[in-house]
Amino acid sequence: MNTEQTTLKINELEVSVVRKPIKHLHLGVYPPDGKVRVAAPVHIDDETIRLAVIARWSWIRKQQQRFQEQERQSQREMVTGESHYFLGRRYRLDLVEQPGPPRIRIRNAHTLELAVPPGTDAAARRAILDRWYRRQLRALLPALLQKWEPVIGVQVRELRIKKMKTRWGTCNAEAARIWLNLELVKKPPQCIEYVLVHEMVHLLERSHNERFVAFMDRFLPQWRLLRDELNRAPLAHAAWKY
Ligand SMILES: [Zn+2]
Repeated sequence: MNTEQTTLKINELEVSVVRKPIKHLHLGVYPPDGKVRVAAPVHIDDETIRLAVIARWSWIRKQQQRFQEQERQSQREMVTGESHYFLGRRYRLDLVEQPGPPRIRIRNAHTLELAVPPGTDAAARRAILDRWYRRQLRALLPALLQKWEPVIGVQVRELRIKKMKTRWGTCNAEAARIWLNLELVKKPPQCIEYVLVHEMVHLLERSHNERFVAFMDRFLPQWRLLRDELNRAPLAHAAWKY
């Protein structure tokens, strides 16, 4: 595609700017580290972009603070009383030290019990939870693929999970390979489904152009709501779940 990427420094803020054949300037702040990106029509000059960024300065800062909060959320000590998220719900961690293999279970709908041998440190406890998260996310995927492959009319050759810093998912269209971010397991199932559908649509259309949006509107008409829900801080949706 006909795009040009540059970086603008505005006050202490680095803004990555992509110019492409679009009609309107679009400004976004992206998780996990609050990177600011502007997509601008080809003929818009730097000064106009600078003004657009300054006009939304306090909004940008607010978004960045939210992502920092989310980042703190991911560096937990893994001790009793902490909140942890699974499929969009908040659980209170209960750390139990007992001999034998580590074990995780959900108790009475609000408690995530993590049983580990005495002396297991925080990093090892985090790794145990991550492995469990990965298994849980992995278990959801076959049914989703089965549902969506015939609808979208594509075949995913490989579907993998990894920790990613800046994206919920990626797609290599040539290899028909999709990666999903492990962090998705903390989000409501419909958000996981949205990311998968988005990446699967990339097998039909690589860029986020009008054709891509038309596919999304057809397959998953409520995708904008799901996207907004996905990018909300975990703390923000704790209240409406229960
Ligand atoms: Zn995409």
